[in-house]
Amino acid sequence: MPPSRRAASPAKSPKSTAKSPKKPAAKNGDAHGFEFGGPPGAVGVMFGLPLVVYLLFFACGRGACASDVPSALAALERLQSGLADPAALWSWEAAAVVFGWVGVQAAMNQLLPGAEVEGVKLRDGSRLKYRMNGHLAFWVSLGGCAAASSATLLGSAAVDLAWLYDHYVELATASLALSVLVATASYAMSFASGCMLADGGHTGYRVYDYFIGRPLNPRLGSLDLKAFCELRPGLIGWAVLNLGMAAAQLRDTGSVSGSMVAVNAFQLLYVWDALHYEQAILTTMDITTDGFGYMLAFGDLTWVPFTYSLQARVLVDHDPRLGPYALAAIVALDLCGYTVFRGANSQKDAFRRDPTSAEVAHLQWMPTKRGTKLLVSGFWGLARKVNYTGDWMMGLAWCLTCGFTSVVPYFYAIYFAVLLIHRAVRDDHFCSLKYGDDWAAYKKKVPAVFVPGLI
Ligand code: NDP
Repeated sequence: MPPSRRAASPAKSPKSTAKSPKKPAAKNGDAHGFEFGGPPGAVGVMFGLPLVVYLLFFACGRGACASDVPSALAALERLQSGLADPAALWSWEAAAVVFGWVGVQAAMNQLLPGAEVEGVKLRDGSRLKYRMNGHLAFWVSLGGCAAASSATLLGSAAVDLAWLYDHYVELATASLALSVLVATASYAMSFASGCMLADGGHTGYRVYDYFIGRPLNPRLGSLDLKAFCELRPGLIGWAVLNLGMAAAQLRDTGSVSGSMVAVNAFQLLYVWDALHYEQAILTTMDITTDGFGYMLAFGDLTWVPFTYSLQARVLVDHDPRLGPYALAAIVALDLCGYTVFRGANSQKDAFRRDPTSAEVAHLQWMPTKRGTKLLVSGFWGLARKVNYTGDWMMGLAWCLTCGFTSVVPYFYAIYFAVLLIHRAVRDDHFCSLKYGDDWAAYKKKVPAVFVPGLI
């Protein structure tokens, strides 16, 4: 599953109609339940999260990296003076690169071959079609970058991936502008007649609806904006940004460190995994339930590429030059995390598709009154959210490549722990509603949430 997820989604709510309500209603807002503290919270998050992107940039980068209280205060001053000079955060060249990149990804989405598959049944009984060519688009994108950068190394090309490092903050600003544009377009499209709205996305509080996402599946022709943004420009862009950081380290220091190779490889594996298992996204809550608004547009197009590439960017100037044993331990942690993450997710996918298939036939399960079976052995017998644990272990491995001189590169592990704990609590709540007593019985059989015998 791609990492372009927000910490929360609108609470499940009564079925909504396909048309927007005439009367904005506090009543409607109340019925659906607000996430993020309602409209004031939405405004806070809309301005707060871009600030975090800039804060991370100024906290650790060329010249300085916050490692104690005085240097953290200095980072805040850098942020303040950076924001006081917005022209320095923007360039038309970076904007052209970001918009061009998204255009190329959209073209690949439309033109590359791929199986046409149907999404889940919508509440009007219809199913949307999606073209599954993300895995191919991933390799074509990387192939293009590799060709461009190897030509650069031979001194015969105009494309230097290290440019991404030099213009990182301008690229982030351009992505932020794009996110706002996409969210605004999506919001406007939701007023077209026949547009299906997301439950919880049409409370009538405009700022909240704009933020949380009003339309369920906005499309430009056959291009599904939500599925496209979730998996393509930001996610593949993250991998390419990382390559740019490695190119900058090579240019500046004459070599690429073990940490830089490791973090590139780890995150490339993560992005590849999301695109290789692209079809899995169609059954996620993001696609089936959540609206497409600022939160997802910003998360997919700005937050993922520009906060998830933090470690590689930090390594350009602050590489701890870890020894082979430390690197080997980090690689082991990442691979262990990946094994648990992929193993658990694949086991559940296979079980949900066909519980009698050879892959999962040996596993034990318990029946439920709801009709769906719950696994109680294999990965799912270890802990109820062991897939989250594997995911977090990988995130921790990424952070560890930066050593221990600053806490800033650990932002991801901290943020992701909060996200996953919140998500686990939310899923537990929904499962107890779905399964009733059976869920309580299941929890007795598998008492651990994240780590067997511990938590
Ligand atoms: P899960 O894959 O854990 O799915 C939860 C659902 O699985 C439950 O609602 C239930 O649905 C079913 N389920 C729960 N327990 C069992 C069981 N024992 N046997 C069979 N089915 C069970 O959650 P997510 O979709 O949140 O996460 C998927 C992956 O995505 C995770 O690995 C997570 O780490 C990752 N992720 C990554 C993010 C990122 O930003 N990098 C963000 C969020 C998630 P039902 O019974 O109805 O089938």
